[in-house]
Amino acid sequence: MKPMIPLARPDIGPAEIQAVEQVLRSGRLSIGPKLKAFERAVADRAGRKHGIGVNSGTSGLHLCVRGLGIGPGDEVITTPFSFIATANCILYENAKPVFVDIDPDSYNMDPDRIEQAITPDTKAILPVEVFGNTAHFDRYAEIAQKHGLKLIEDCCEAMGASLDGRAAGSFGDCGVFAFYPNKQITSGEGGIVVTDDDSFARLLRDLRSQGKSDRNACQYEHIGFNYRMTEFSAALGEQQMHRLDQILQDRRQVAEWYNDALADIDEIRLPPRANPQGASWFVYVIRLADNLTAEDRTHVLQHLHDENIGSELYFVPIHVQPYITRAFGYKRGDFPLTEALSARTIALPFFTSMTRQQIDRVADALKQAIATCPARKGRRA
Ligand SMILES: *Cc1c(COP(=O)(O)O)cnc(C)c1O
Repeated sequence: MKPMIPLARPDIGPAEIQAVEQVLRSGRLSIGPKLKAFERAVADRAGRKHGIGVNSGTSGLHLCVRGLGIGPGDEVITTPFSFIATANCILYENAKPVFVDIDPDSYNMDPDRIEQAITPDTKAILPVEVFGNTAHFDRYAEIAQKHGLKLIEDCCEAMGASLDGRAAGSFGDCGVFAFYPNKQITSGEGGIVVTDDDSFARLLRDLRSQGKSDRNACQYEHIGFNYRMTEFSAALGEQQMHRLDQILQDRRQVAEWYNDALADIDEIRLPPRANPQGASWFVYVIRLADNLTAEDRTHVLQHLHDENIGSELYFVPIHVQPYITRAFGYKRGDFPLTEALSARTIALPFFTSMTRQQIDRVADALKQAIATCPARKGRRA
């Protein structure tokens, strides 16, 4: 068996190990200086006044929805082509996710379809920088402003990305970064909300810690949660922030190697290219050509699996998940561009330390897989 090429792998260096060890030896494992330092580093990178660290990106999104006062009867416009957390955070507050189909060139929510989805119940727009692409975020901000809506930026996949010099995390009333181990940088688990609004930041700090007032330690002002990040997570994340530019550059290199290795395979469409200076690569997701079917994709995934190469479906559309369908009546066919894309995407192994040899092995396996696709055999018969 050839050695495994995993789908993702965190890039942890000696400085990170030392920083975590130091925290463990210090005895201070929660509510300490490392969290503040990590929050500051992420807020600075996004050009924001405040960072509020939490124990996952999902918790961060939930605090934003709760903190903006979104609740039963409210609608939030979002994309069906995302990780499920984007919709779950709306459901936690019994609000309704109103999906808008994607722009097939960037995979982000189509800004030209948003205004027709706005109703008197719409409170916010929650767009996602899908796979780290910042396309259209200036437009979302314009639309939100025009209609008096809040903008929650799910930048969980876009650490370090920018659009015309504007950083990911700077577009909305608030933005949420995430640090699960497959993201550009990791804290094990974790998330950071960024915002410029002083009272919103204070509210979120209270909410992440049981609702305890940060002005009066004996007082619980709100029903809160325990969404705190540990000090060793924060220490890991903060060290990763020191290396962020190198990490982003290495990932751009890996993406370029892929673009080069896959360029001559007709049946594969490369990932949308974000503006080159502002790109932050989260994953490398190819799209099979339209003449290939879901059956062909299953064949390709099986072949990669047999070759000991990690791969994944990114993303299954949110609106066809059983509990979403049951709750809101969405059905297959509602968002055809999302569905057509989703039926043909494959996430390939992608991580900071990936080598050219590993990429060539993935490319070779893909070529073999496509050459033996059921659709091709059908055509020849
Ligand atoms: C990773 C991610 C999140 C947050 O995930 P957690 O595992 O909770 O940190 C949210 N939205 C998107 C689009 C993501 O990719």
